[in-house]
Order: sequence, then C-alpha cells, then structure tokens
Amino acid sequence: MSKVENIDCLIIGSGPAGYTAAIYAARADMNPVMYQGLQPGGQLTTTNDVENFPGYPDGVTGPEMMIQLQKQAERFNTDVRSGFINKVDFSGPIHKCWADNGTEIHAKTVIISTGASAMYLGLESEQKYLKMGGGVSACAVCDGFFYKNQETVIVGAGDTACEEAHYLSKLCSKVTMLVRRDEFRASKIMEDRVRNTPNIEILLNTETEEVLGNDMGVTGVRVINNKTKETKEIPCTGFFVAIGHKPNTDIFKDYINMDETGYIKYEKPGTSLTNVPGVFVAGDAADNVYRQAVTAAGTGCMAALDAERYLTALEG
Ligand code: NDP
Repeated sequence: MSKVENIDCLIIGSGPAGYTAAIYAARADMNPVMYQGLQPGGQLTTTNDVENFPGYPDGVTGPEMMIQLQKQAERFNTDVRSGFINKVDFSGPIHKCWADNGTEIHAKTVIISTGASAMYLGLESEQKYLKMGGGVSACAVCDGFFYKNQETVIVGAGDTACEEAHYLSKLCSKVTMLVRRDEFRASKIMEDRVRNTPNIEILLNTETEEVLGNDMGVTGVRVINNKTKETKEIPCTGFFVAIGHKPNTDIFKDYINMDETGYIKYEKPGTSLTNVPGVFVAGDAADNVYRQAVTAAGTGCMAALDAERYLTALEG
C-alpha cells in the first residue's frame, strides 16, 4: 500500500526558484519537502560560468552554485528528496501529489518550480542520434568535451546558442552555427562575440534538413539555404541544438491556467499565485521573458512568502 504523507509545503523542482523557496519556507517553519525532479539543480547544472548572479564577484559555476543552494536549504531542514512528482490532483482544498516511488503527498501548499527543458528540432535523424547517445546534444557545456579538436554544428541564434557556440569554439577545431533567419535573436554583445571568433562560421538563412551518420554516430548534417534552396553537407561529429526551452508543466495542465506553450499564468500580476488557491509558481515554469537565475530566485522567495501567508490565513 502506498504511503500518505501530510505536509504544509511541497516544492516541486530544484533550480534557483525551488531552492530559494525552500530557504524561505524552511526558515518560516513550514517544514518544506522538495522533490528535485529529473534534473537535480535544474538548468544551471548545464551552465559553466555564472557571472551575473549578484554576490559572486569572481563568478561561480552553475553546478557549484546549485550545491551551495541545496546546502543552504538543508541547513534550515528542508527535506530534499531525489525523485519526481508525476501526478497531481488539485481539485480539493488539500493538494494531492504522487511521487515516482509511489509516495502520496497531501500538501496544504504547493510551490511549482519545475522550470523548463531544452527543445529539439524534431527531425527523425536528430532523435535517432540523440537516443543512441551518438552525437546530438542540447548542452555544449555537458557534452562539448567529447568533441575536442573535432568539428561541430550548432543550431540557434539566441543567447544560448551564442554562449554554447563560443564555449565549443574553445574546444573544437571548427563550429558552424546555423541561423534560420538573416539575423540573430541574441543580444548584440553575444552576437559580436561569436562573429569575432575565428573558428566559428555563421550560416544565415540556413536550416537543418537531416542529421547524417552511421552506426558509430553523427558524421555530418545536410542543410538548406531557405532563400536560394541550395543544399550542402557539413561534416561534423557533434550536432548541438540550442533553440529554446519548453516549460515542464504538463502534469499540471488539468488544473492550472497556462498559455498555449505551457507557461503557467499568474493569477494576479506581481504575486506568485496560480488560479488554484494554495498552489504557487516560481521560476521559468511561468517566465518566458526574463529566464534568469536571479529572477527565478526572486520569484521563489515570493512563492514561499505567499505560501506562508496562505497557511497563516488557513490556520488563523
Ligand atoms: P531564444 O528563444 O532566445 O532563442 C532561440 C533561438 O533558436 C532563436 O534564434 C530562434 O530563431 C532559434 N530557433 C527556434 N526554433 C528553431 C528551429 N526549429 N530551427 C532553427 N532555429 C530555431 O532561446 P535561448 O535559449 O537562446 O534564450 C532564452 C532566454 O535566456 C533569453 O531570454 C536569453 O536572453 C536568456 N539567456 C541569457 C544568457 C546570458 O545572458 N548569459 C545566456 C543564455 C540565455 P528565431 O530567432 O528565428 O526565432
């Protein structure tokens, strides 16, 4: 028989939003339980240097920062658990959530901080090599090392693609960047950085037709210029995709209001409230604009404070 736990506060997800919510909730004696999710530490664990989080004058690596945040949350007795929540029922005043190990949790308050995940092009060949671990990746910092002194291709023209292309350029002999329009989406400073890197070649108006390879993995990519319709093959052993992210909110869709792409809508601007009383949201699960560690942390704080007020009103 599955175990039922009754708690005051459940935090789903362990990025900067979740850990900041945990620190505040734990210090307010809400005894929060956190399920870390499929990627403990969240997206920052796939980032190298974080130079824009206040308080780190010399920068910090993403994984290191997440370890520090976890330690800080645990210092105030947050119950941090590995595993993930795979089902919820928010139809009643007590919010029921089920963990992957069968544990059933009845929480008075829930803070959703499940973040977002990398998107892929969806080509059959891309998925094939992704699944076989044969040269397709959405994280240059995680996998770039495997392509040392080799040629790689990266798709995308946002800040992430620029950051990752630049990271790869330091390891790889050549990086080809595929930009589908005739301009970047990235900030000027990031675009300039890739434009000024000698071993990064930028192909504008260029889309991926197919990822090429054999039993060993990726050997190249066939691309098409969407203006001239000219196709060509680019040899590479690594194919990186940096085209944005999808919020991890599917399990909430029957209960929580979201936009068409799955970003959770705030019930009241300037708060962390969702349409379900007692359920709050923080971080990238509700943010398709700022998407920064520091903004996620800020909304994590808001969610914990809102949850605390909700509990006080409930018990008062
Ligand atoms: P973005 O949504 O900003 O950019 C996605 C890029 O991928 C765009 O260039 C887009 O093209 C392209 N793209 C989308 N779909 C496809 C497709 N099917 N085929 C080819 N190209 C495609 O996502 P990012 O992940 O780059 O950035 C997300 C947020 O995080 C941004 O706000 C960014 O500023 C921020 N960020 C900040 C960093 C920093 O400051 N250090 C580092 C990384 C991210 P198109 O432009 O044509 O739509």
